[in-house]
Amino acid sequence: MKAAAKPVNGKVEIVDIPVPTPGPDDIVIKMTMATVCGTDMHFVDEYPNELLSATFPGPHATPQGLLMGHEAIGIVHQAGANVTSVKPGDRVIAGCMIGCGKCHECMAVDFSTCTGGGRVLFGCQAEYYLVPFADGNVAKVPDSVSDEHAVLATDIMSTGFGAIERAGAGFGGSVAVFAQGPVGLCATAGARARGCGLIVAVDTVPERLEMSKKFGANVTINPREEDPIARIMSLTDNKGVEVAVEAVGTQATFEAATRAVRRGGTVSSVGVYGLTPAVSMPTLAPSFLHRQIITTLCPAGRDRMEHLLGLLANGNINLAPLFTHRMKLADTAAAYDLFRGKAEGVLKIAITP
Ligand SMILES: [Zn+2]
Ligand SMILES: [Zn+2]
Repeated sequence: MKAAAKPVNGKVEIVDIPVPTPGPDDIVIKMTMATVCGTDMHFVDEYPNELLSATFPGPHATPQGLLMGHEAIGIVHQAGANVTSVKPGDRVIAGCMIGCGKCHECMAVDFSTCTGGGRVLFGCQAEYYLVPFADGNVAKVPDSVSDEHAVLATDIMSTGFGAIERAGAGFGGSVAVFAQGPVGLCATAGARARGCGLIVAVDTVPERLEMSKKFGANVTINPREEDPIARIMSLTDNKGVEVAVEAVGTQATFEAATRAVRRGGTVSSVGVYGLTPAVSMPTLAPSFLHRQIITTLCPAGRDRMEHLLGLLANGNINLAPLFTHRMKLADTAAAYDLFRGKAEGVLKIAITP
C-alpha cells in the first residue's frame, strides 16, 4: 500500500509498505479521508525520528521512515479477535490520541493523558492504518455526518471545543481567541456552540478573520492594525474577557492571553509549543494573582468521539468551510508544503486515496 512517511526532518514522501495486520485488540482501517495538521509540521520539521519513535513507540517507525498522519476517517478493514465494538465494513473514526483505556489517567482524566501504552496515532496518511486499543478509541460515524466533519472530530474540533469547555465558558461569557488557524477557529465555533456572549477573534491573516465571523466571532482584531489588548479592554469596560484562548503555541499569543483575561478569569492554552523550552507571562497585568491557567491537548477516546459526532449530527454546526483544499494521497508531500507555507488561504486539506 501507499503511505506518507518522514525519512528525515523536513521531508515527506510516499512509500510502498505492507498493509498492517491487527493484533488482538487492534483494527486496521481503510482510509477514505485524512488531513494534514499543525502537529504534523512539528513532527516533520522539529522532532528527530529517533526522539519521536522513542517517545511514541509502535509499528509506525518503519525502515522507510516514520509513518505520518493522525487525523482520518475510513472503513474497518480488519478487526482483531478481542475487538467487540466495531466490525469490518463499519465507518469509523479514532481520536488522534490513543489511550489504553485501563490506566489511571484514561479512567480519571482523559485518554490523551494515557500512561498505559497510549500515544499519538501515526500512519493515517496511508491507504490503510492501524488503531491500537480499538474498543476504547474508535467510534462509529452516523450516516448523516460527512467525512469532513468526522475527520475534524478526531483532533482540531475536540481540541478547540475542549479549550472552551475546560475553561468553563458558557452562556453569555466573554471569550477572546488568539490565533484563528484551524484549532482557533474551532475554539471560536465552540464558544458560539456553548452559548458564549462576546467572542473576539485575533489573527494577522485577513482571510482567517473573515472565516472567524462565519464561525461565530462578533469582533475581529488584526494585531497588525490595532493593539488587541487595548481593543479588548475597551470592549469589556476595561475588565478583560472571562476566557482567553491561546490557539497556536507561541510566547506572543500566550502572553497576550494572560493580558486579555479579567481578574478571576481563565487562560486556556491549546496551542502546541513544539520544542519551545519555556513560555513566560507578565506579572504586572491586573489578573496575575487571580487567573487560572489550564492547558488541554486533545480530549480523546471513544466516548469523546461519540459525543462530538452526536453534536455534529444534531447540533446545527457547520465546520466544513475549514476545508479549503482537496488533494490525493500521492500528493501528500505537496500538501505539507502548502500547509507549512500558509499559502492560498489554506486551513484544512482533505486527502483522499
Ligand atoms: Zn492534528
Ligand atoms: Zn491509558
